[in-house]
Amino acid sequence: MGATFLPGTTGSGQQTTLGVMGGGQLGRMFVQAAQAMGYFTAVLDPDVASPAGLVSHYHIQTDYLDEQGLAQLMQRCAAITTEFENVPAPALMTLGSHRPVAPGAEAVGIAQDRAKEKAHFVRCGVPCAPYAVIDTAAHLAAVTDDLLPGILKTARLGYDGKGQVRVKTRAELATAWAELKGVPCVLEKMLPLQAECSVIVARGWDGGMVNLPVQLNLHREGILAVTEAYEGNLPPALAKQAVAATKAIAEELQYVGVLCVEFFVLQDGTLIVNEMAPRPHNSGHYTVDACDLSQFDLQVRTLAGLPLVQPRQHSPAIMLNLLGDLWLDNVSPPWDQVLALPGAHLHLYGKLKASKGRKMGHLTLTGATVAEVRATALAAAKCLGLEAF
Ligand code: ADP
Ligand code: MG
Repeated sequence: MGATFLPGTTGSGQQTTLGVMGGGQLGRMFVQAAQAMGYFTAVLDPDVASPAGLVSHYHIQTDYLDEQGLAQLMQRCAAITTEFENVPAPALMTLGSHRPVAPGAEAVGIAQDRAKEKAHFVRCGVPCAPYAVIDTAAHLAAVTDDLLPGILKTARLGYDGKGQVRVKTRAELATAWAELKGVPCVLEKMLPLQAECSVIVARGWDGGMVNLPVQLNLHREGILAVTEAYEGNLPPALAKQAVAATKAIAEELQYVGVLCVEFFVLQDGTLIVNEMAPRPHNSGHYTVDACDLSQFDLQVRTLAGLPLVQPRQHSPAIMLNLLGDLWLDNVSPPWDQVLALPGAHLHLYGKLKASKGRKMGHLTLTGATVAEVRATALAAAKCLGLEAF
């Protein structure tokens, strides 16, 4: 059970520090939100130049399982959260036995394993793609043809389309599993997608829950490229269904913290759950500029046991991801031109090295109307040489 940790100091100089496991861009934006409210922050990440470590009061630069590192984090922090789902479960267990940790080891353990995650969706009565778990050669042989063509996904450690192979035939499936070194996998039927969307909720220690508006997401090569967040981005009935499904998934987990659930909208309009992230999500970055409470504010509030109030989106928004591809000829993209557009909010994560597909930053466009924000987002995309959407 979590206590309440008020921000700022008691007046006698004692500060409240919040901790985060992982130093990527999500950790950085958590740290920035926590600091804005008056918290001190600590980041545990082995990378000397991690985006969150660079802006945090304390950076504990050890491996995630390092006992001394974990002890330091606990000693410094009133409560601890995580910014990526692959934090080793034993580390969260250790932290959780001494400090409030949100989300907890159990929920993170489910989200970091596609097989467990899908079983959880089934338990919640939320439909997911037809799938089979492939742990052994016997499982592989037992796969039924109705799952083909399909996508073979490693059960663990996949992200941004990594650890996935598209297969059309049984022969391709066998080759793909061998290529993935025979690790535990999930084979999912390839579905005819019309669109993809996601929903972010925050649930407190007391079970209270609030949600952000439904996001419409466009992926390119397995990586999120564009998020559109405004009224009418999806049919209202579908949006309502997605919010209800996300709340059911969080409730069944007795989840505490910020949770994002990704969905497919099939060509016939059916809503299918894809996967969940036990943390803020790339598709929720627009909330920093377009809502009165961002997904990171919600993460701070859930962790610190502060009141959760329903966020309100005040501006239609579109987010464009800025991948390393934009830097490949070693010149800075034309930020001066982009920032000349009204309602442009540039976020760069402080990563020194650009590489193809690496998330370097994002650009959120806000506007008074949907037509306006679409026009500026398309102008920004053109300016950066990004494909129109
Ligand atoms: P990651 O963890 O890399 O985000 P996802 O499972 O979300 O992995 O897959 C990445 C993208 O691949 C999805 O956003 C979607 O565009 C596509 N995809 C994944 N599974 C399916 C499927 N069963 N049918 C059709 N497209 C899929
Ligand atoms: Mg995904």
